[in-house]
Amino acid sequence: LLSKRLKLVADYIPDNIQSFADIGSDHAYLPCYVCLNNSSIQAIAGEVNRGPWLSAKQQVDQYHLSERIDVRLGNGLEVIKQHEVDCIAIAGMGGTLITDILTNDVSKLKGVQRLILQPNIDAQSIREFAEDFSFQICHENILDDDGYIYEILVLEPVDTNVSYTDKEKYLGPLIINDKNDAFYTKWKQVLQKKQRIIDQMAQAKQVDQNKIQLFKQQVQWIK
Ligand code: SAM
Repeated sequence: LLSKRLKLVADYIPDNIQSFADIGSDHAYLPCYVCLNNSSIQAIAGEVNRGPWLSAKQQVDQYHLSERIDVRLGNGLEVIKQHEVDCIAIAGMGGTLITDILTNDVSKLKGVQRLILQPNIDAQSIREFAEDFSFQICHENILDDDGYIYEILVLEPVDTNVSYTDKEKYLGPLIINDKNDAFYTKWKQVLQKKQRIIDQMAQAKQVDQNKIQLFKQQVQWIK
């Protein structure tokens, strides 16, 4: 039923919570899987688009889970009330869309114990969000699922200031100390691409020096 990627997202949902929301749930694969494996958990599946919302409803009905998974149509966190869920998962989108969804409605994050975020790209923007809104990154993972590399970040609210270096935000403060094959695959690809762009920019007539400097800095971090 579930991809390796979503299975790993599911693994970060604590067993002892009462409820969680999956925002951008599409077919509701994640909440169905979690509810089938944990008989005491309730879920909300949120979808902004009617087609995926209908698919989610069908999937939930097929597994006879409509008593436990409420499929709601709406934009981002507007489908949940404050203090309604213990945990929120947002997976399979760009990091900037995920951070937009979170920052557009931050009041809904009050009382939430954990965010499980799986950006397809731009994980850096999620680490910036963590700093800006005092969430600590407590787990990071990177995996290869069928030739695509995905990152998963697990955030928990803290009372203290959170601060990461630019290098940590770029590569991942926890992943850099726990590198796996997917990490090396991803950053080798990015390194080649950045070096190609730097070469092309060096030959261009008008050069954005700030951009070149940033890319050179990123290349150093990757190396
Ligand atoms: N979460 C699933 C996964 O990881 O496989 C589905 C990912 S799918 C690529 C992204 C889904 O997010 C789409 O179904 C899209 O309609 C939904 N989506 C995009 N923006 C959204 C928003 N602002 N609020 C709720 N859902 C959104």
